[in-house]
Amino acid sequence: MSKKLLKFVDLKQETPVKREIDKRSKDFNEIYDDFINTKAKDQSSRCSQCGVPFCQIHCPLSNNIPDWLKLTAEGRLQEAYELSQSTNNMPEVCGRICPQDRLCEGNCVIEQSGHGTVTIGSIEKYITDNAWEKGWVKPFKVKKELKQSIGIIGAGPAGMACAEELRKSGYQVTIYDRYDRPGGLLIYGIPNFKLEKFVVERRTKLLKESGIKFVQNFEVGKNKTLYELKNIHDSILISTGVYKAREIDIPGHNLKNIFPAMQFLTASNKKGLGDKVKLFDDGTLNAEGKNVVVIGGGDTAMDCVRTAIRQNAKSVKCLYRRDRENMPGSSREVGNAEEEGVEFIWQTSPKSFLGNGRVNEVEVDKMILGEPDSSGRKKPIIQPGSEFKIPADLVIKSLGFDPENLPKLFNAEELAISKWGTLKIDLKTMQTNLDGVFAAGDIVRGASLVVWAIRDGRDAAEQIKKYLQNKLKKEKSEEAA
Ligand SMILES: Cc1cc2nc3c(=O)[nH]c(=O)nc-3n(C[C@H](O)[C@H](O)[C@H](O)COP(=O)(O)OP(=O)(O)OC[C@H]3O[C@@H](n4cnc5c(N)ncnc54)[C@H](O)[C@@H]3O)c2cc1C
Ligand code: SF4
Repeated sequence: MSKKLLKFVDLKQETPVKREIDKRSKDFNEIYDDFINTKAKDQSSRCSQCGVPFCQIHCPLSNNIPDWLKLTAEGRLQEAYELSQSTNNMPEVCGRICPQDRLCEGNCVIEQSGHGTVTIGSIEKYITDNAWEKGWVKPFKVKKELKQSIGIIGAGPAGMACAEELRKSGYQVTIYDRYDRPGGLLIYGIPNFKLEKFVVERRTKLLKESGIKFVQNFEVGKNKTLYELKNIHDSILISTGVYKAREIDIPGHNLKNIFPAMQFLTASNKKGLGDKVKLFDDGTLNAEGKNVVVIGGGDTAMDCVRTAIRQNAKSVKCLYRRDRENMPGSSREVGNAEEEGVEFIWQTSPKSFLGNGRVNEVEVDKMILGEPDSSGRKKPIIQPGSEFKIPADLVIKSLGFDPENLPKLFNAEELAISKWGTLKIDLKTMQTNLDGVFAAGDIVRGASLVVWAIRDGRDAAEQIKKYLQNKLKKEKSEEAA
């Protein structure tokens, strides 16, 4: 065992330092300062190299964490990068935004023994950011170009990971996306203070330079049907994510200045990228000087409240019907939001929106918590007669997402969906009920995580390769017959 490891008893856990609250809540830059070289090496050396690496087991990508920690502790950073990128198409993205407390770090053995987890996420980010800086991340060269082509619908992490794996094997890959920029929720959902856009853009550039074609502003269902696309390619992957916002059907829901979370976040992200956004530029979607009320308790709600803070809102309140312990959002993000000045009004639910044309108050009910429901969290019950009012100039609804009606949108009524509207696939082959049409990411799982989208994209690539090899064999044997 290297002397450079097992230091968790003597060496304290250190995470990258957060920037001062006053500064970070006034800009959209990432909130953590850089993890300098020595810190990453030292922190990697805390790994106990245990026989059964629970961190790896609980990483959806089965990242070889103990080995890249060992290489980092030994200063072998290029090898650490090579190993890390061999199982993950975007290690620097996952290092930044995975909920590590629920995945790798939450299962670290030294965390269980009370010494504080190895800070796996920040080391993973450091390894790949350093590799980009040193010029080790390069477009890949295809050894043998193959004729077969794959059309991928959706340029989010699932589509991009699948594209990369297929292209590495020499296939011709085209990604179609209805947005004007690739990246899916990495570009227009997740705010800069969690994931700066240059991180996504340099990945996209790398894929383009490796021969993957991107067709933007192309909506399947509008510009071409699924079947038309299927005729152009040998196989299709659907990785369109889930975008239908859940609604709140209470009195006043049609008043002006009530918006779904994605509209608010997309406008802010577009502004950050230098675009003109009419509804932001005329002040409608800009929280500056306003009393903002965000409804919901997930990570998207946390992104909305923290965006409103950065837009210099007068006040930002978050209404959630359960308490802190029963919240779906990551406790790390709730803590960040509180530090930055968000006020959480726990155990409350909107009863009506009030105003004359446009919203100016939200009437809320107080809730009491009953027994756990099917989600495992305590069921919120309205406390009769508990109503009170909160001033609101801008209300953002963040109650989760459902899939759009893809069979209808794609003009492919036969495409099988589950009772939740997600695409049904054969879990072994990742194929939908249509021959040669595969699916991956949120459109199969429902709203999930980036790391799972990458995993699905990689698995789908393996299955598509098998499918295409069989197809080729069949065509050759038919020709020979
Ligand atoms: C606000 C927000 C914050 C989040 N924060 C985190 C986080 O911190 N950590 C984390 O792990 N996960 C987070 N997530 C979840 C994560 O972003 C998703 O799980 C992940 O992006 C899903 O990847 P995907 O490739 O399946 O879909 P998406 O990223 O949604 O990409 C789908 C793509 O398909 C395109 N598309 C859709 N329909 C069509 C069509 N008809 N034709 C052509 N293109 C189409 C879309 O334009 C989009 O680019 C967050 C989600 C949101 C909304
Ligand atoms: S991909 Fe996510 S879960 Fe896996 S090691 Fe990295 S941060 Fe942890």
